[in-house]
Amino acid sequence: MQNITDFIKQTFKTNEFIPLHEPRFVGNEKKYLNDCIDSTFVSSVGKYVDTFEKEFAKKVGSKYAIATVNGTAALHISLILADVQKDDEVITQALTFIATCNAISYIGAKPIFVDVDLDTMGMSPKSLKEFLESNCELVNKQCINKTTKKIIKACVPMHTFGHPCRIDEIKEICDTWNIILVEDAAESLGSYYKEKHTGTFGKIAAFSFNGNKIITSGGGGVIVTDDEVLAKRAKHITTTAKIPHPYEYVHDEIAYNYRLPNLNAALLVAQLEQLNGFLESKRELALKYKEFFAKEDIIFIEEPKDSKANYWLQAILLKDKNQRDEFLEFTNKNGVMTRPIWRLMNELEMFKDCQKDDLKNSKYLEERVVNIPSSVIL
Ligand SMILES: *Cc1c(COP(=O)(O)O)cnc(C)c1O
Repeated sequence: MQNITDFIKQTFKTNEFIPLHEPRFVGNEKKYLNDCIDSTFVSSVGKYVDTFEKEFAKKVGSKYAIATVNGTAALHISLILADVQKDDEVITQALTFIATCNAISYIGAKPIFVDVDLDTMGMSPKSLKEFLESNCELVNKQCINKTTKKIIKACVPMHTFGHPCRIDEIKEICDTWNIILVEDAAESLGSYYKEKHTGTFGKIAAFSFNGNKIITSGGGGVIVTDDEVLAKRAKHITTTAKIPHPYEYVHDEIAYNYRLPNLNAALLVAQLEQLNGFLESKRELALKYKEFFAKEDIIFIEEPKDSKANYWLQAILLKDKNQRDEFLEFTNKNGVMTRPIWRLMNELEMFKDCQKDDLKNSKYLEERVVNIPSSVIL
């Protein structure tokens, strides 16, 4: 394993500790931040929020983008816009980051877990279809879970580490069952499935700009949609549902203060300008890792068929749990930060009673996938 840590240190040209993912601020960040401070518009109104929303929508090819204070908030609002209500059910994958299930739970809805595909690490259309066919029926155009008698309102696949899942097949199944498709695209800015950007397949999608994501605003998120009504409503309920008025405070419903501050948006506009360079660097790093790990007889996880991944977090697949634990132990002890993929959601105390399909691929990956240093190399 010594040669692995040596290779990573060489690649990152340092003998110091190597973090999993460091942000890079090498563009107009300071310039825009200074400008933002000088303008005094640092908070909930300002030109950087508007600029960011326009530029982001253009980048991913959606009609509208609404900036939010973080990715979890973007997901929460996306689910509300998908009309998910208390006691409804939402299908998602067991192998995901906790935010997906937290957002579902904020509404008082319940997650149902289906399996992932081994190659994409994202939702398996086969598992989704089988679950629906054996457990659900369409009644008055609503997908009803025959076991719980609840409505399955939405489906939230996630593009794991920026590798697109089979989103077109998932969309087709959702359409058949009248389930609204909400993409958790938090990790997949710059990732395309069949040349269409992730997050533009469903009715609505959420991205994250947390400190460890491919671009960051410190904390931040965005909702994207092509639906004008949903876009307007997203803006409205992320900004306290205030009715525009020259001076009066009138709000027409209980809503949220989820807007991204202009200060964070200033940082984000500068980061978005550098996205293409970041993507190139990550792809180069993926190539280096691929060649190196082939010699080590370790599988480096490559972008799935029909897609272009952003390679946000680079990942390898170890032979079994023992080899994985050895790898984690050795690398972390030797100054190279590595992390296992998430515990399955259904194994967490809060979600252990949720309904689920057979999760054998999720379990296989949970025991073997490790993320390795992935920062953009300058
Ligand atoms: C990062 C992330 C989110 C959102 O996270 P925030 O930290 O709230 O911005 C949601 N889902 C997934 C899968 C993520 O990786």
